[in-house]
Amino acid sequence: MKIAVLGDSFLCEKISSATGDAHQISFYGTGSEIASIRGGFQEFIVKSRSSSSFIETNADSIIFSSYSSPIAPSESACSTVAFFLDADGESSDSITRRCLESASALALVKGEKKKSRQILFLAKYVRTAGSGMETLYKTARSNGVLFFKYNEASYSGGVLTFKDGDGEYLLEGASVVQPQEESSSYEKLLSLCKMPSAGFFLHPSLTLRRGVYAVKPMSGLFGEIDAQISFILGDLASQAEPLSYAQVDKDKCAACLTCMRVCPHGAMMLDEGGSSMRNLNKSCFACGICAGMCPAKAITMKAASAPALKLGRRKLFYCENCLNASDIPPEIDAEALICGGGVEMEKILKCSSLYDTVSVASCFPESCRHGDGNAKALLFASRCREYLRCAGADEFKIKFFNSSKPLR
Ligand code: SF4
Ligand code: SF4
Repeated sequence: MKIAVLGDSFLCEKISSATGDAHQISFYGTGSEIASIRGGFQEFIVKSRSSSSFIETNADSIIFSSYSSPIAPSESACSTVAFFLDADGESSDSITRRCLESASALALVKGEKKKSRQILFLAKYVRTAGSGMETLYKTARSNGVLFFKYNEASYSGGVLTFKDGDGEYLLEGASVVQPQEESSSYEKLLSLCKMPSAGFFLHPSLTLRRGVYAVKPMSGLFGEIDAQISFILGDLASQAEPLSYAQVDKDKCAACLTCMRVCPHGAMMLDEGGSSMRNLNKSCFACGICAGMCPAKAITMKAASAPALKLGRRKLFYCENCLNASDIPPEIDAEALICGGGVEMEKILKCSSLYDTVSVASCFPESCRHGDGNAKALLFASRCREYLRCAGADEFKIKFFNSSKPLR
């Protein structure tokens, strides 16, 4: 399984050690390294920039970090740290946020001899629009960060000079942080709709595109990144051939790109010659939107020959806030919990030898009434999978999903 990891070397290391095969992983530190990502599940093509040309690399799956590591100064001992934004044009919203957060945090850290460091925030443009932005500025100010709105500024040879309305300043010996634009472009690069901060459909790591996963911290719970990686690798390994998909009649297709535009799952792409559309069967969710929108009536939904579905004996541990007992099919042996986080690993493991599948259901991220119950449930289910894997048993019989009970 070839995996392209975007955005975070720590995440890349974790995935390499979880798969045990670093050669199958290609890593891209920032979105700006990548020119484009084409294709779909098991046939992605990542086009990256090298010094003088482009390199195309195949990948079965894409995993990106949707969290941003804090921006830290390179010289931690310096008594003055200057965040220097807008040096090469207006910095993005996400860079501004990260710098404000980092400046705020650094202003609270005592340096040598228990003295607070002086933290400067230099920007040519001041962006206060956007959710929570004003609060970030307020917090930074109250933590002691000094703000300068400069007209001109430059940094070379360890000297930072800048001019504002009051005069010209020169700063020597400070640690200057010039942040680079990076992961905010991943959603765009991967044609994902703007993702809610609360998480994703069904699971925090899933996105609307099959084979594309986002790893994000959920509640600060230790081990949560490992739990998400474990889920993703399990999900990748358990992907079956689709039972149905959209099929394009190339003779009727006018290559108008409508289907590509409306497909929410990135499952349509132009064929090699660019004269007609091609469905990426493995990425298709068979929702039928494209078939309804195609002006040439060139798309039909095709059912693959379905293998007999064997469900077997099923056990379900569920948070009673996320599912209604009456909605659970009677053939499932379901056990309600006050909170998903209360699920016991011992019980899951015992049930794994008595049932064909053991599922754990909890509420969507950030909607747990008990704080981090859903994150704990995911963690416990993932750990149980690891135990089964270590024991040489079928780890994928343990399943995890988020659900939400309609309010009554
Ligand atoms: S909408 Fe129909 S005609 Fe247009 S590109 Fe897609 S398949 Fe072809
Ligand atoms: S059926 Fe849905 S998922 Fe499949 S190609 Fe059409 S719009 Fe995309």
